[in-house]
Amino acid sequence: MNTRKLESIRKTLESRISQLQAGIATQNRTLTEEDLSGRHADLADSAQFENDHQLWAGLNHRAHLSLSELRIALKRIDQGEFDECCDCGSKIEERRLLANPTTKLCIVCQEDLERETSSLRFRA
Ligand SMILES: [Zn+2]
Repeated sequence: MNTRKLESIRKTLESRISQLQAGIATQNRTLTEEDLSGRHADLADSAQFENDHQLWAGLNHRAHLSLSELRIALKRIDQGEFDECCDCGSKIEERRLLANPTTKLCIVCQEDLERETSSLRFRA
């Protein structure tokens, strides 16, 4: 992959990271303000608060997962391994990387993995 494309992917990854970080910060602030305002003071609201909190924790967890995937992708660019499959070491197709810059597997390994996970699901 050429440098210009790599740099544009790097910019995309960096802007997604800052968006996610801003989103996490906003969610944290909203929750704290609601705590302080005592909106959830009575029992009925405390159940609602529990729901909100679980929903928020789930979103937060996913946001952190995406953040770490994005950071790994950036590191792979820095180390010049961005288009190498981390399983078999062959080149990952460029259009695959453009469509999904956080992918670490070539199409063959990805399909193997999906077959494995779906057969595990089938057995379970
Ligand atoms: Zn592979």
